[in-house]
Amino acid sequence: MNDDKNQSLQIKQDSAARINQLLEARDANEQTCPICQSKNSYVVLDRYLLLNVTDSGDPKTAKVAGSLPLIPLTCNKCGNTQLLNAFVLGVGNDFFKGNAE
Ligand SMILES: [Zn+2]
Repeated sequence: MNDDKNQSLQIKQDSAARINQLLEARDANEQTCPICQSKNSYVVLDRYLLLNVTDSGDPKTAKVAGSLPLIPLTCNKCGNTQLLNAFVLGVGNDFFKGNAE
């Protein structure tokens, strides 16, 4: 029943609370969805994504050198999704430091 792999990309509750506070402070809820024009429709999902980062700009030789945590912000009316860089939000380290619990 417990799927560790499935839970590993789940945003922890305290991180989610901090992310929501940061977005509220930046009036993220005030923005209009560019697809369906809804207001106050963006929600932070309980999962984050890891985007592979390469060690060089040469696509022939580049290797995966790390990953970048991205927070999905999704319009609950049409599903349009924006990805926010967790490091720019100031919570990037929440996803890497001893979070195995
Ligand atoms: Zn929308």
